[in-house]
Amino acid sequence: MILIALGSNINGPWGSPRETLARAITELNRGPVRIARVSSLIVTAPFGRKNQPDFANAVASVETHLSPISLLARLHVIERNAGRKRGLRWGPRTLDLDILDYHGLIFTGRGIGKASLTLPHAGIADRSFVLAPIAEIAPRWRHPRTHQSAKAMLARLNQN
Ligand code: ADP
Ligand code: MG
Repeated sequence: MILIALGSNINGPWGSPRETLARAITELNRGPVRIARVSSLIVTAPFGRKNQPDFANAVASVETHLSPISLLARLHVIERNAGRKRGLRWGPRTLDLDILDYHGLIFTGRGIGKASLTLPHAGIADRSFVLAPIAEIAPRWRHPRTHQSAKAMLARLNQN
């Protein structure tokens, strides 16, 4: 299973965060990539930096023969088309697309002259806004490293 996290917290050329996520789903479902399932959209307080608007977040499962690096490049094109400017880490953005899991692959590397990629995504365990949507659309998913379900990871996160 391939899981992609979507997030947005400022208006861009595609409209409000909610509209931007809807358009991003349409853009993702093109060419070599097909959307399988999309979670409910949730609104969450900003992570990391607090003084910025709330985020709209969702998770989608996709099917593709693209390699992880090629898929990431495709996500970056969609982010750019959505008006994304790379600025502050954890800062406001019109659209953020992250690969959470690529068929359980454990990988750290980069393409030639390309962006770095860590799989599974390093932030899954501390982010309820990805764990809850994963539990919704992929209840049988397990974290590739710990083999815990999203539900179990959420329960642990809520204890802390
Ligand atoms: P954020 O951490 O808020 O998502 P960015 O979207 O700006 O910040 O991502 C920073 C960099 O993280 C990207 O340029 C990308 O190369 C790298 N990255 C590493 N692993 C992943 C992943 N699993 N999915 C998406 N981007 C990743
Ligand atoms: Mg990102």
